[in-house]
Amino acid sequence: MLEDSGYGPAGVIGDSWEDARWKGRIGVMDQSSIRCLGFDKGRLGEKRSFRRACWGLVVWAGGMMAASAGEVPHGVAESRVRQVLQSVPLIDGHNDTPWAYRDRVRNHLDQIDFAGDTADIPWPMHTDIPRLRMGGVGGQFWSVYTPVSTAGPGAARVVFEQIDVVHRLVERYPEHLQLALTAQDIVEIHQRGKVASLIGMEGGHCIENSLGVLRQLYRAGARYMTITHSKNTDWADASTDDPHCQGLSAFGKEVIREMNRMGMLVDISHVSAKTMHDTLDVAEAPVIFSHSSARAVCDHVRNVPDDVLERIKKAPRGVVMVTFVPPFVSEKVRSYSVERSAERDRLTELHGKGSPELEEGMAAWQAQHPAPRATLSEVADHIDHIRDVAGIDCVGIGGDFDGIREGPEGLEDVSKYPDLLIELVQRGYSDEDLRKLCGDNVLRVMREAEAVALRLQAERPASGALFDELDGERAEAAGG
Ligand SMILES: [Zn+2]
Repeated sequence: MLEDSGYGPAGVIGDSWEDARWKGRIGVMDQSSIRCLGFDKGRLGEKRSFRRACWGLVVWAGGMMAASAGEVPHGVAESRVRQVLQSVPLIDGHNDTPWAYRDRVRNHLDQIDFAGDTADIPWPMHTDIPRLRMGGVGGQFWSVYTPVSTAGPGAARVVFEQIDVVHRLVERYPEHLQLALTAQDIVEIHQRGKVASLIGMEGGHCIENSLGVLRQLYRAGARYMTITHSKNTDWADASTDDPHCQGLSAFGKEVIREMNRMGMLVDISHVSAKTMHDTLDVAEAPVIFSHSSARAVCDHVRNVPDDVLERIKKAPRGVVMVTFVPPFVSEKVRSYSVERSAERDRLTELHGKGSPELEEGMAAWQAQHPAPRATLSEVADHIDHIRDVAGIDCVGIGGDFDGIREGPEGLEDVSKYPDLLIELVQRGYSDEDLRKLCGDNVLRVMREAEAVALRLQAERPASGALFDELDGERAEAAGG
């Protein structure tokens, strides 16, 4: 998509590293992808000089048309987006590819070719290297998700194995991926034309209630931890579970302080609103939401309420990385999910769990109630809202690709980010706004967290606190 406007204004791109990088991107795509993009690889050179000569005229004419029609011509918007993505890495906050490897091929990396077309395998994926390149992705937090069913002894083993998957992916595709541990790493890797690969842990149960395990996970490369997944941890409440800590417990607060001391980002996607507020009370560094949207736009508990957005914009200013998960994006899809669940509950009551009548009844209900789809435009509505309430300095992107069955219409896979940015151009976002949204906000948050860590490490040693010492009875109930 983006490579279709493979030429900037003459003299701006020239023979710089960006030019080489974009050629490199074309190089990683197969012939059919190139054809999809609307041009023939063999004729690229001929088209190039002609297009360059015409470029100034196109931009000028486009600008004039935009001024009169109030809309930026598609080619001009596309060109602006391309230049933004060259100047700043687009950093996505959450992608579940590592889990896809575990779930499908038991982490045998040789059984899914990540440099090939993973949309063309029996259970199609949203992510592969050619599509990351087409999408202009410059940095990716790979989620090392650990299911809540693993909570208890053994959860840490799962998360270490998933971290190992990211390290092995990076080793396997060194021309395209490189491990990033700091903000500066991301910038430099992007300049080398590779995808900066970061590690984000999803689900605080993976530390097995141990700050020692948490520190070892940092040393293994993890740079954020989502405090909970769908269920409470022993020390923090999730948004989709019944509260048992009323936010963060004493140990939970110590986890946040220790993450700040190490420089691991605190991710408060998935947690309850009370846990969000408790975390903001304790946090000394900016927090992130790696994949959440705005509750005022879609009333799902996984989304961020306005009173939290009001706090996020104050120092230490965090970032909300807007997610594409359909029931979090679209009120229509959310309501539909609620109705479908209610029907399933009703039929289960009537016919019993797992009965053929239940499945037949659900099939009949779904035939009468076709599922609505979330859209790219609705995702842009969330970005608008978070910008309006918290400011443009607090918005980012966290798609959750390969953690969802399907993306919104128009955002079906990782190649589609430029289309979202083009929509934002049409809504009046400046290039500076887009740079902040794509990467500058996350880079700022990471740099601040790194600086806070240096300060805290000079002020205090690693915490020796133990779960049972801080959480007493709760620890006893959880088995220590
Ligand atoms: Zn998630």
